[in-house]
Amino acid sequence: MKLSTFKKGLHPEDYKYFSRNQAIETLPPPDDVYLPLQQHIGAPCVPLVKKGDRVKTGQIIANSEAYVSAPVHATVTGIVKDIEKYYHPLGMRETMIHIQRDGEDEWDYLEKIRDWKWTPKEQLLKTIRDAGIVGLGGATFPTHVKLNPPDDKPIDSFILNGVECEPYLTADDRLMIEQADKILLGMAIMMHILDVQKGYIGIENNKPEAIARMQKRVVELGYPFKMVPLKVKYPQGAEKMLIYSVLKRKVPAGKLPLDVGVVVNNVATAFAVAEAVCEAKPLIRRVITVTGDGVTQPKNLMARLGTPFKELFNACGNVKDNVHRIFMGGPMMGMTQYHLESPVIKGSSGIVAVSGDLVEELLTFPCIHCGACVKACPMNLLPLRISKFGQRGMPEQLEEYGVTNCIECGSCAFACPANIPLVQWIKVGKLRLREHQAKLAKEKA
Ligand code: SF4
Ligand code: SF4
Repeated sequence: MKLSTFKKGLHPEDYKYFSRNQAIETLPPPDDVYLPLQQHIGAPCVPLVKKGDRVKTGQIIANSEAYVSAPVHATVTGIVKDIEKYYHPLGMRETMIHIQRDGEDEWDYLEKIRDWKWTPKEQLLKTIRDAGIVGLGGATFPTHVKLNPPDDKPIDSFILNGVECEPYLTADDRLMIEQADKILLGMAIMMHILDVQKGYIGIENNKPEAIARMQKRVVELGYPFKMVPLKVKYPQGAEKMLIYSVLKRKVPAGKLPLDVGVVVNNVATAFAVAEAVCEAKPLIRRVITVTGDGVTQPKNLMARLGTPFKELFNACGNVKDNVHRIFMGGPMMGMTQYHLESPVIKGSSGIVAVSGDLVEELLTFPCIHCGACVKACPMNLLPLRISKFGQRGMPEQLEEYGVTNCIECGSCAFACPANIPLVQWIKVGKLRLREHQAKLAKEKA
């Protein structure tokens, strides 16, 4: 069978063998959870509780009036111990609501929906927002916003993203094998909200069990969805690449999937939508892969949001002595972790501990102008040039060379034989451009 894919791309070693055969294990709720006010793209939330309050599992404890935002829920039943700055997995200290569990779950459920097929779309969107659902593949964009495109952007296709192309991660793979029905239900609900008839399921060919299971349930449950097995290639899970792989539509630079009539959502997001709409459960947990050669017993864990990473490692026999580096989210796009007190957040798809054997000591050399970074870039950018502009703080040039089109996939840095930290400087460049634009806007006002 000829498999679909996109142009360019890489083939990094996938290292999924550590955890792909580990069935999802539910981690008991921890004694303490730490819930950041910012776990999503958009406006941060403000606390609705104070120190000493007793909260129930599923209760909204922080929210924002902004449309592009998502509320934060208590993920255990207990007492608000404090609201202080703690280490956030994205690298800074951020305000978090610390809850100390005082017993079993007492639930605060969402408003119940009787039959989603007969429920107004506005109400379904409100339930998805109230549930705090965001893109769980790592993008963390609020799902209610994605499912409500403007009227002048007609959507004709929905793609369920089961690609999980990041090395090491197997959370989505296991979820598709074990929870296919709920994922497909979530997909049907999202397509109903968007009033879209064409649904596609994109899964890379290195997940044969997930493809077979999802295909079987699509047929048995009578869904009109099309399965699209994909050639294994990084970064196929990025929306623009996936849309090309599945539909051969190109999303132009600076445009969004909805500009070509497509909405893409991850399988874990679909699972969360089904739980919110059909079981009145807000987003209080997620599957996270705990893996790498630095973990004694790699696993896929269903963990409460707010659980410190050290508790996940404890449940996996702990990290080994030779651990060299720990990432949240995988080695290509993930963030290096320095504090294992940092908690699981909505975008935590994996926590990966690797030994010195797997991570070479990265000495940086001068550029040899080999062009490998340009060849690897799926967005057709000039990575070396924009990273230099980022390093030198040149906002006009950064804009001209399309720094905002960079999806931070890490392919350029992976391909670079000189080990130049290209993505790091590109990220700095994006920051410099934002600062420059804010300054210009202020001067204009
Ligand atoms: S420049 Fe950005 S999009 Fe291109 S390869 Fe590098 S990280 Fe990926
Ligand atoms: S891949 Fe590295 S060495 Fe080659 S051109 Fe790009 S930055 Fe220079």
